[in-house]
Amino acid sequence: MKPQDGTIPAEKIKQAGDVIKRGGLVAFPTETVYGLGGDGLNPASSKKIYAAKGRPSDNPLIIHVTGREALPYIVKEIPESAEELIAHFWPGPLTIILKKNDRVPYETTGGLDTVAVRCPSDPVARAFIDAAGGYVAAPSANTSGRPSPTEAKWVYEDMKGRIEMLLDGGSSEIGLESTIVDLTEEPPVILRPGYYTAEDLSEVLGRVDTDRTILSADSGVAPKAPGMKYRHYAPKGDLTIVSGETEAVVSYINEETKRLGAQGKRIGVIATAETIARYEADIKKNVGDRNDPASVARTLYRVLREFDDEEADIIFSEAFSSAGLGQAVMNRLLKAAGHKVTKV
Ligand code: AMP
Ligand code: MG
Repeated sequence: MKPQDGTIPAEKIKQAGDVIKRGGLVAFPTETVYGLGGDGLNPASSKKIYAAKGRPSDNPLIIHVTGREALPYIVKEIPESAEELIAHFWPGPLTIILKKNDRVPYETTGGLDTVAVRCPSDPVARAFIDAAGGYVAAPSANTSGRPSPTEAKWVYEDMKGRIEMLLDGGSSEIGLESTIVDLTEEPPVILRPGYYTAEDLSEVLGRVDTDRTILSADSGVAPKAPGMKYRHYAPKGDLTIVSGETEAVVSYINEETKRLGAQGKRIGVIATAETIARYEADIKKNVGDRNDPASVARTLYRVLREFDDEEADIIFSEAFSSAGLGQAVMNRLLKAAGHKVTKV
């Protein structure tokens, strides 16, 4: 298993599909992040996925399909809300939760009677899912607790020796995981924010609720997506988000850099194109453009992993607007920081 060069011959895709059919694991690119795939209808494959990631077995997997026609085989019913969302957003970064039937093993759904289904748009993912028999269970292809991989080299770092193949499709276009919406509830509930926002879904469905644990640190309430309760996306360094007016944020971070640097700490800053030149830290990373949340989404996980490589002890990040796609960005950043925010 070696990362390849971004062009994947049909023969390789067929081989990858055969690995899945035999019960093995293959990591593959999608437009959101890299997935760690196994046969979603084979309980032994799902168990292997949990083992490879070190993932708790109550944290369900998403089944990846290539179109709506795959649904009747695995779900009890397809509500009107699903039909409408599929017509608007599939293929793409939207995961829907429906009632599962007996063909879907509890090993794949973490013991739940519901199943999460997504239909990616990435052409390599689609060819691979078809070659694999049509139902590929896949969480993100990182070791549990690390940032999701947006490039094959990060998958290789985490999964080397634990999977049979890695398909290299280059950098992930979106960079954050899919939006998850539970359609077994009325009104539907967004369990995880992603590229598609609550406003996007409301335009199609009317009223849509959002799980209130998404941006708060309220640990008394369990999130409805089991995976959202785990600390996730965490860099090895101690990450704090600094929020406030830009001037105040820059001066606070520079003062802290001086103070902690004097104690021998290596300091990192997650900055933006607009501010990076003004920081005095050892390691500075441009995570994107403040006015373009898509650029931040695309780069955030790479930056978090780079801080690990460069052994930052303490990391400060600017805060971003929670509007639109910014909600997904702040959700991931808050989780990475264990909800540690300093207001200046
Ligand atoms: P990952 O693929 O690593 O992004 O993780 C999948 C996410 O989907 C986790 O947060 C899971 O908790 C969530 N998920 C998967 N299936 C279900 C389900 N049936 N009900 C609620 N959440 C789910
Ligand atoms: Mg994940």
